[in-house]
Amino acid sequence: MSDCIFCKIVAGEIPSSRAYEDDLVYAFHDIHPLRPTHVLVVPKKHIASLAHVSADDEPTLGRLLAVASKLAVDNGSTDGFRSIINTGRVGGQEVSHLHLHILGGAEPVGPMVSKT
Ligand code: AMP
Ligand code: ZN
Repeated sequence: MSDCIFCKIVAGEIPSSRAYEDDLVYAFHDIHPLRPTHVLVVPKKHIASLAHVSADDEPTLGRLLAVASKLAVDNGSTDGFRSIINTGRVGGQEVSHLHLHILGGAEPVGPMVSKT
């Protein structure tokens, strides 16, 4: 997708702080980190959201999750982490390219969903 910011990051057209890359996924540090560890993992292929995946995407989705633990540990979250995929309007998704948030650090991330 030519106007997708995360596609441009994957293509190197927009700078990012790379954390990991392989044939299927690209990981980079969130530009506005919410915790000491805040890494985003995205499929290299444009997939708009978790509501837009097909059976062909299963290997990519598997990889997305499979790299999460190592990314968390390598980036300072050695005792667990929070993984989040926001989807669509109700899920609060702001960037329409599927991405997995990996949040952590030394302290607990906090409640899964805030009441406020
Ligand atoms: P979401 O609300 O789940 O769509 O999350 C989008 C995330 O992308 C937010 O945490 C943003 O801070 C992050 N983000 C947006 N633009 C960039 C960028 N150019 N580089 C790194 N992270 C970004
Ligand atoms: Zn995209």
